[in-house]
Amino acid sequence: MVRLGIVVPCYNEQDVLEETARRLIAQLERLHAKGLVDASSAVYFVDDGSRDGSWEIIQRLAADPRLRGIRLSRNRGHQNALLAGLMNAEGDALISVDADLQDDLNVMEDMVRLYLDGHDVVYGVRSDRTADRPFKRLTAESYYRLLRALGVEVVFNHADYRLLSRRAVTALASYREVNLFLRGIIPQLGFRTATVTYVRGERLAGESKYPLRKMLSLAVEGVISFSAAPLRAITALGFLVCFGSFAMAAWALLARLFTDAALPGWASTVVPMYFLGGVQLLCLGVLGEYLAKIYMEVKGRPRYLIDTVVGGPNGNLVASAAPCAEQGAAGPTTSRAVTD
Ligand code: UDP
Ligand code: MG
Repeated sequence: MVRLGIVVPCYNEQDVLEETARRLIAQLERLHAKGLVDASSAVYFVDDGSRDGSWEIIQRLAADPRLRGIRLSRNRGHQNALLAGLMNAEGDALISVDADLQDDLNVMEDMVRLYLDGHDVVYGVRSDRTADRPFKRLTAESYYRLLRALGVEVVFNHADYRLLSRRAVTALASYREVNLFLRGIIPQLGFRTATVTYVRGERLAGESKYPLRKMLSLAVEGVISFSAAPLRAITALGFLVCFGSFAMAAWALLARLFTDAALPGWASTVVPMYFLGGVQLLCLGVLGEYLAKIYMEVKGRPRYLIDTVVGGPNGNLVASAAPCAEQGAAGPTTSRAVTD
């Protein structure tokens, strides 16, 4: 039997948390009844600095020994919250899932079976996104295509619903990047992988916690962290513009020597000036984007800080710790960063 940990990042999810907890527990019980998961399996809610009543609800839910709560010191974003959960949850295999249950919980059974067959990574892939708004669907799907075109290895229509074996989680811990794009990192781990497909549903309640701003920043993360193609595109553009201006110079020289049509023109001076200015600024912008990411990586700040941990086998407060940064390359011994 597998000891399963389910990791759920939550940001202002008070409307859904109780129902989510109920359904996840029901799922664990179902899997236990089928002899697939161990009775010590648990659900880990990672409160990503919610401003609503989410943490109070999590604290209350943690009276159930199968439900635990990890509270981050402030909002660090979905990817970091997810990482905090993965690094601190216990279990032979960990499944990450969003709090709004847009992802079909029933495929957890297939995930666990595939894990038992020897797979270290099992991706949940959305076969149908009709429940998403057309704008979201279009932007998300074009984005996956763009990433592929730029040479970034991502699983099409897979978000962060996946199972990772303990081995894969330990491997993930050795990726120290601050600009975190888990969908890009996981395929780099290798190991035996499999996919399960499901139909993506509607949000249980509440609003999307991914406004356009956060979506764009995640999108940029994915490109910059995994692809140098934009930098190469700048070089190509540079070559192209140089070649063009050489050709233009040659043409002007020939016109001057062999025709009398060479009137000093305003357009031929001003248009290239503006155009080249624009190209240069654009290229600087792309360079700056990489530079900013390097800046953050060099600083190597902790990706999350844990404020409090609740729940555990006795349903008690396990630790109400002083702020604790994540540990170094986390192995099984650091799976409980707070108690270290
Ligand atoms: N989330 C988080 N921190 C954030 C934003 C979102 O932990 O800063 C969580 C959120 O609670 C949810 C998951 O990330 O469990 C995905 O968010 P959401 O469902 O709002 O995104 P969407 O499905 O609209 O892309
Ligand atoms: Mg959602």
